[in-house]
Amino acid sequence: MYDTFIGLEVHIHLLTKTKVFCGCRSAFGDEPNTNICPVCMGYPGVLPALNIEAMRMSCTVARALHCRIPERTWFDRKQYFYPDMTKNYQISQFASPLGQEGWVEIEGRNINKKIRIRECHLEEDAGKMVHTGTVSLLDYNRAGVSLLEIVTEPDMRSGEEAELFIQQLRRMVRYLGVCDGNMEEGSLRADANISINISGAGLGRKVELKNLNSSRFVRLGLNYERERQAALLDEGKTIIQETRLWNENRDRTEPMRTKENANDYRYFAEPDLPVFIPDEQFLAKVDAALVELPLERLRRLKKEYGLNDEQADALCEEKAFADYFEETVKRIEGAEPKECAQKAANWILGDIKHILSKEKIELNAISNFKLNASRLASIITMIIKGELSGKNAKQTALAVIAEDKEPAAIIELHGWAQISDPEQVSLALQAVCQKEAAAFAEAREAKAAGNEKRVATLSAFLTGKVLAETHGRANAEIAAKFVREKIAAT
Ligand code: ADP
Ligand code: ZN
Ligand code: MG
Repeated sequence: MYDTFIGLEVHIHLLTKTKVFCGCRSAFGDEPNTNICPVCMGYPGVLPALNIEAMRMSCTVARALHCRIPERTWFDRKQYFYPDMTKNYQISQFASPLGQEGWVEIEGRNINKKIRIRECHLEEDAGKMVHTGTVSLLDYNRAGVSLLEIVTEPDMRSGEEAELFIQQLRRMVRYLGVCDGNMEEGSLRADANISINISGAGLGRKVELKNLNSSRFVRLGLNYERERQAALLDEGKTIIQETRLWNENRDRTEPMRTKENANDYRYFAEPDLPVFIPDEQFLAKVDAALVELPLERLRRLKKEYGLNDEQADALCEEKAFADYFEETVKRIEGAEPKECAQKAANWILGDIKHILSKEKIELNAISNFKLNASRLASIITMIIKGELSGKNAKQTALAVIAEDKEPAAIIELHGWAQISDPEQVSLALQAVCQKEAAAFAEAREAKAAGNEKRVATLSAFLTGKVLAETHGRANAEIAAKFVREKIAAT
């Protein structure tokens, strides 16, 4: 009965070494007010100079979002007074943002749609205010840090869609290496705008939810807000245009301030910075940084390797993790490509992920992992070729990590190679025949009586004994076959 409209404004901190208009270090968590200079402190008479790397990274994101990069792009002054910004204006972009009219696809969890991007623009961040008891403290380390703002059209219809948008954008900027995507530290922040209206009547009056610092809060806040607004309209009341905050302790949105009339920032073109005209050389650099994006990669992995949605999604979580998977698959021998891919996916999403989290290794740091793609591939290859049992493969993997040696060397050292030689397995079987004569006798009786269930149970038990006799090294298939034959023989 109501239509919902959601538009997001996402701010991302670019991973430039220095700030956007001065040479100060751009870092999170440093001693307060140590990364500052006259430029980012807004002293009179200083001149800003554009960090070209910030512009390059921004344009790469703009391209990934299918935005048009205009022939001329410039900065504007956005005037307002607030203690976290000493100049009393913010250098931003207004009339000619660096990225215009793009779109991005979101896909997953039964959602598949295009979200239009209105624009993206580069600006400087403000400082940070810390309120403690009766005093407020100011840390200007963040003032002047490169900030890219991405503004969507109101194309999302639910909290779930907005959450997916944020998650996929986060993945994208991490793949591009332009932002660490850390929402808790504020490297990626979202403001969410939502309105509802009678079906078919177009946009309603919007409410803005500010500073949502997790994608889950984006979903929860928006869905709460949709219900709140629907209840108001149901009662015949009107919605006031205002800014609200998500209160995570009470699971509700609360008013912050009303916006009766639009802010008037008195924008005008920043006179201290020249117009930026991207030339061919610059655009070539922008495009060179465009790696295969997460959604493209996810689709390719599904198609090329026959992975299901969940596998592909989990493997594409980080670029380095997807690289690890593909490198492993490439190196496995002895099976069809899709079978190799399944084996690699099972290992990586199972045991490997488990080990990584236990060792506190981030997925994007997997290139430093001792069990590298080539080592994992050789373990999987040995399993396929019957040279290593499943049980010993896990031990081998752990030992490779602990001892930092090649799997073949580990197996040799510990004597873990699988025994597929029939004679050796048969020797082990003979030993078990003596030790477990009663079980064999019972199995034969059960077989004679046609109790197949009992035969199966006893066969499994006896196969286990043969494996144990060889310390887990006997080829399980051969051992099982021999046990069955032994029971059948009278
Ligand atoms: P403002 O001038 O208040 O910043 P904008 O028109 O610049 O508003 O839009 C800011 C964000 O709000 C955009 O992401 C846009 O898609 C979204 N938005 C604008 N109007 C509405 C609306 N009526 N309902 C939902 N979202 C909206
Ligand atoms: Zn500075
Ligand atoms: Mg706006």
